Amino acid sequence: MNCPFCDTEVEKAVFARSENFLAVYNIAPILPGHTLIIPGKHILSILELDEQQFSEMMQFSRKITRLLLKVFRTDSFNWSVQDKETAGQTVAHMHMHIVLRYTGDLPDPGDWYPRISHNYDQILDSSNRAKLGTKELANIVAQLRSSWHIMDYP
Ligand SMILES: [Zn+2]
Repeated sequence: MNCPFCDTEVEKAVFARSENFLAVYNIAPILPGHTLIIPGKHILSILELDEQQFSEMMQFSRKITRLLLKVFRTDSFNWSVQDKETAGQTVAHMHMHIVLRYTGDLPDPGDWYPRISHNYDQILDSSNRAKLGTKELANIVAQLRSSWHIMDYP
């Protein structure tokens, strides 16, 4: 199976996990902090999650968002799921984007979406967006991993 999220390489960017989900730092972030929440199991659609898994994903995503806001020192964010091809899904493994926002980051607040949809989730092979170096990614992931371990709020 040719899925970048099932490839073992993805482990380098994983900084937190819940029972069924992983938080993965985007190797080609559209803005600092850009993270993906993915199920560990290869499923296509958010509709395939049962109620308990869906609830787990929402709770985990909110915890990860709080962590990211703290580490990257901002208070605003976008969440986005492109579910199936017509909606712009290009990797057949369900994933939710968490995009942190910063004052004055983009000319228009809505400009983040085109940036995601142009090659939005080539996590391991982005040719259009600037890719983090191996060391840079390792540093960010290490910082997030240690912050995740000391986090004690819901
Ligand atoms: Zn997969």
